[in-house]
Amino acid sequence: MIFKILADDKQTKARCGELLLGHHRIPTPVFMPVGTQGTVKTLTPQQLKETHTKIILCNAYHLCLRPGAGIIRQLGGIHTFMGWDGAIITDSGGYQVFSLSGLTRVSDNGVEFQSPIDGARLFLTPEKMMQIQNDIGADVIMPFDECVPYPCEKDRAGVAVQRTVAWADRCLNAHKNKRQTLFGIVQGSVFRELRAECARSLVEMNFEGYSIGGLSVGEGSLLMNEVLDYTVDYLPRDRPRYLMGVGFPLDILNAVERGIDMFDCVIPTRNGRNGCAFTSTGKVKILNSQYKDDAAPLDQSCECYTCRNFSRAYLRHLFLTKEILGPTLLSLHNIFFFQQLMQQIRESIGRGEFKDFKVDFLSKQSD
Ligand SMILES: [Zn+2]
Repeated sequence: MIFKILADDKQTKARCGELLLGHHRIPTPVFMPVGTQGTVKTLTPQQLKETHTKIILCNAYHLCLRPGAGIIRQLGGIHTFMGWDGAIITDSGGYQVFSLSGLTRVSDNGVEFQSPIDGARLFLTPEKMMQIQNDIGADVIMPFDECVPYPCEKDRAGVAVQRTVAWADRCLNAHKNKRQTLFGIVQGSVFRELRAECARSLVEMNFEGYSIGGLSVGEGSLLMNEVLDYTVDYLPRDRPRYLMGVGFPLDILNAVERGIDMFDCVIPTRNGRNGCAFTSTGKVKILNSQYKDDAAPLDQSCECYTCRNFSRAYLRHLFLTKEILGPTLLSLHNIFFFQQLMQQIRESIGRGEFKDFKVDFLSKQSD
């Protein structure tokens, strides 16, 4: 992996750059749609391409439960398996192990948990998680980490940081396939001291990129921005920074301003499936009766396939009649909208006008 910073904003910590992952060239800041199960829900890879998506996030935890990492390896790796020739990043699933699994038992060696699919007792270690991600074969992989919920006592968060650091070291040692890029994950909840300790330890291990985990878990925007303000300063300037699981356009703008380069979030697809579209003038809830005979597209200034071809009235009809095409068309539009936002962000940083762009974008949002 090669990361190049092409422009720094003068007024903020925002920067735009380029991530080279093998033959994949990814402009940053970048938004990565989520394909948890090896599919960005409701969209074919071809449709995903039309949204200008270059990289997606899959989840190693879900994929190792089903269909199994060995099967994906046997079938040529995740790119071939899912028919996506763009770049892929896998999350190690630390967050999912702690949030979705029943009866979790954590020790320094690893995590014992119950499979939510068949109830089987499973045991994951950092080494096993590296093997799983190696089998899946994404371009960028994550170490196994311990995620704490919010709110969390400082002592408890401190233990999780120590474990996350120890596990990161074990993952680094177990990382054999150099075609894959391994990031480090900074944990530490909302405690500056812990974030600093975690970041310093990881930076000493010299990871190629750094993720910031454990945010957007209920702490609210103000606190998240505060944590980003100091955490980014503990990370080296020349490595990509990835804020995991974020977010809404406002969160993305706030985080770019604080020096974040990479984002993933289920929001555009989840909201799309629920009939909620993001537009340049704010959200459109397509089931609202005001759209029943509305001939306009979702967003007048959007050039996606959905906006070029369909009226709000037709989209509303699809959702009312529960037709599958509805969620597809809204997901397509929402991801396109997010990718367009990222492009505008990159261009505004390049021109040295990021702050103005942010103010202008937000002033047009009605909600
Ligand atoms: Zn559109």
